[in-house]
Amino acid sequence: MKYFLFIFSFALLVITGKAQKTYLQCGQLIDVRQLQVLKEKTIVVEGNKIIDIVDGYQSGTGSDIVMNLKTSTVMPGLMDMHVHIENETNPNRYLEGFTQSQADIAYGSLRFAERDLMAGFTSVRDLGGSGANIAMRKAIQKGYVVGPRIFTAGKSIATTGGHADPTNNYRPDLMGDPGPKEGVINGPEDAYKAVRQRYKDGSDLIKITASGGVLSMATNGENPQFTEEEVKAIVSAANDYGFKVAAHCHGVEAMKRAIRGGVSSIEHGTLMDESVFPLMVQYGTYLVPTIIAGKSAADSAKIPGYYPPMVAKKALEIGPKIQNTFSKAYKAGVKIAFGTDAGVYAHGTNWKEFVYMTEGGMPFLETIKAATWNAADLMGTQSILGSIEKNKLADIIAVEGDPTKNVYQMGKVNFVMKDGVVYKNTLK
Ligand SMILES: [Zn+2]
Repeated sequence: MKYFLFIFSFALLVITGKAQKTYLQCGQLIDVRQLQVLKEKTIVVEGNKIIDIVDGYQSGTGSDIVMNLKTSTVMPGLMDMHVHIENETNPNRYLEGFTQSQADIAYGSLRFAERDLMAGFTSVRDLGGSGANIAMRKAIQKGYVVGPRIFTAGKSIATTGGHADPTNNYRPDLMGDPGPKEGVINGPEDAYKAVRQRYKDGSDLIKITASGGVLSMATNGENPQFTEEEVKAIVSAANDYGFKVAAHCHGVEAMKRAIRGGVSSIEHGTLMDESVFPLMVQYGTYLVPTIIAGKSAADSAKIPGYYPPMVAKKALEIGPKIQNTFSKAYKAGVKIAFGTDAGVYAHGTNWKEFVYMTEGGMPFLETIKAATWNAADLMGTQSILGSIEKNKLADIIAVEGDPTKNVYQMGKVNFVMKDGVVYKNTLK
């Protein structure tokens, strides 16, 4: 349908010399910068851009398209700062590393990308996979497949035996000694090489695993795994290529090194405490909470055999703590960007994070700001994304009814436009 519309509007442009516009009549419109809900507005879209926002319900001239979103709440396309587009939790996850080819991963991930987009997430930051994530970004950009805008780290970077070392717990002949190319570094020289390899691979940013993690086959889920010198080398190399650095982090010492080392975001931040909050504020580092991932991993750990025992133990200890930490960090004035770790739980249910954030004490409109304006700031794309303003890219979604009164409405996305193209409209 959208291709037909595209051809139709192109033909119209040729015949009349006038570009077709789309008028989105919005019952409610969230202004994420002023944290207010505007009533009865019309957004005018031409091509892939927002060209105007006007008062009342406007409908243009005969050839223009009108979309009735009068019973909905319209907001900028949502942005999830932490997803893994290539995979999704299941009891065979650890076996998949041996059974899936990159082509299997790529085809498998198509449905995850589509689900995230249909849930209203028009942009995602993919924080680590096999490299199929980069191919996925390209295929979506070219319009071959349906999915959100992807900003991907490509392969994560760890240290030997660290959270993203791809051969943890293998038998010795399979373990080998992966290096910077595979995402394992030891020392500043390796750090430079790993970042440069990711530039060569086509990554958009760098992801490091600064502390131990829950789902890796290793005993410690929180210890520091990079020296401060290594973090600084990563950040310095990343700066050369215009990359930001996201740091997976559960433990306090690892966080302090990562923040002082200059990373842009701390992911999860589970054990963050009063000794870390002021440092986050001082350095302007974002926290990407991923509350839903912690809760979901703890739930899965209660199912016998779902995770290996080593992982289940960590999931039960670490997972449930994130929401409380988020709450304290928010009150301490730490900058928050929305992120969920989709893939650790089912893609497409990312919206539940809004429920957990409001439960944690963040007012609803601020949660939307965290998932739009703040997220765009973290990605360095605020000039083109993150709010509904003139000349920005037309990434616009709507949810049924009024989510400011009931946060569960965030699960009822009825309209998705990305780059000026409508991917979902259940209101017709
Ligand atoms: Zn993750």
